[in-house]
Amino acid sequence: MNRQERDKKHVWHPFTQMKDYLAGDPLVIAEGEGAILRDIDGNEYIDGVSSLWCNVHGHRKKEIDGAVIEQLGKVAHSTLLGLANVPSIELAEKLVEITPEGLSKVFYSDAGATAMEIALKMAFQYWRHKGQPQRTRFVSLTNAYHGDTIGAVSLGGIDLFHETFRPLLFDVLHAPSPFCYRCELRLDPKTCGMACAKKLREIVEQHRDEVVGVFLEPLVQGAAGIIVAPEGYLKEAECICRDNDTLLVCDEVATGFGRTGKMFACFHEQVKPDILACGKGITGGYLPLAATLATDEIYDAFLGDYSERKTFFHGHTYTGNALACAAALGSLRVFEKERVLDALQPKIALLERRLKEFSDLEHVGDVRQRGFMAGVELVHDRETKTPYDWDEKIGIQVVLAARRCGLILRPLGNVIVLMPPLCVTEEQLNRMLDVIHECITTVTEGE
Ligand code: PLP
Repeated sequence: MNRQERDKKHVWHPFTQMKDYLAGDPLVIAEGEGAILRDIDGNEYIDGVSSLWCNVHGHRKKEIDGAVIEQLGKVAHSTLLGLANVPSIELAEKLVEITPEGLSKVFYSDAGATAMEIALKMAFQYWRHKGQPQRTRFVSLTNAYHGDTIGAVSLGGIDLFHETFRPLLFDVLHAPSPFCYRCELRLDPKTCGMACAKKLREIVEQHRDEVVGVFLEPLVQGAAGIIVAPEGYLKEAECICRDNDTLLVCDEVATGFGRTGKMFACFHEQVKPDILACGKGITGGYLPLAATLATDEIYDAFLGDYSERKTFFHGHTYTGNALACAAALGSLRVFEKERVLDALQPKIALLERRLKEFSDLEHVGDVRQRGFMAGVELVHDRETKTPYDWDEKIGIQVVLAARRCGLILRPLGNVIVLMPPLCVTEEQLNRMLDVIHECITTVTEGE
């Protein structure tokens, strides 16, 4: 049996309809270098999704390889439950330094979903310790995605992913997604005065004494199709939390570590959340690691005599894994040494320039971009914004066509996502855009 057959025999792939997968030829990756991935037959592809939005400086980055190898010579893992390890201390210091002011404590885990699960449990327990146990309502946004554990799914607002599990979920107050192209309030963004933010304010005010916090993805709702919030929405969300004495929890799992052009999305609007979750790019895309950062105010509420049971009873076996923390430290050193964010700005501008060419295509309804996150929404009819039917698999068709041209993408329904590693060269980025333009044209015009 070859490797593709062995994969089909035993591996169950995430977010994948295995019936379709089994009917196709799986792409088996063997190697990578920079923004390029190579399959077992030696074919090369541009990694246009940064290995699911987490790769930053490229594959086999010397400094990160070196940091992991050096740490392997010391210890790979020892628990953080009641003990400390060297790289997790150093990384916590760095994270506090590079995240918005006020966040001073770092709680580690190993995935974006766990970082958010921790955020919501931490926020919930915080209010209990503050003598406000009636605060049990979470506010999040429609179209939100915070991961696949049950708490994170409860906060989520994407019916396709979340509806099946509805009976298992706790009730959440959903405010309208700041999605101008498909406004659920059916308003015109030019004249609405950011009505979605007003609605958020209304919801929080109405439930003022019961709200645990407002949970949101700052600037970009990624998994719902790269929905870019209007400027000022995030700042207004912060004001709403401050005015109503509740917590602001920012999920920077997708937006963190340079993705939006600044280290964290919160910096674009000078927002200081009470809790911030990050993951994905934290290790440069090398190893599973995530972190939930909190203020002293939150941390201090958990301090007490042992007998008071104020401990945060949450943890994972691999919390603060030393190898992963060493990789993260390596990645942060590259950010500094190579001035990655400065080098990124002309590439963001190039992406913006080239994306303009997509607006003229007959079946492109909307082109959305924030920094190095972009989405091209394909529609059946531009005038009416009628989406392609789910069964047409239009996004999947474009992605398969792109793969034949040496580019790896993954769609979100009818949205073609562009999420190259920050290290991608201008030449590779141009090639990526050429391929996507060509594939969208052939697939949509051949319908
Ligand atoms: N939060 C956001 C905003 C995300 O985009 C994702 C993943 O795409 C997650 C949480 C979940 O992260 P993970 O897949 O590492 O659990």
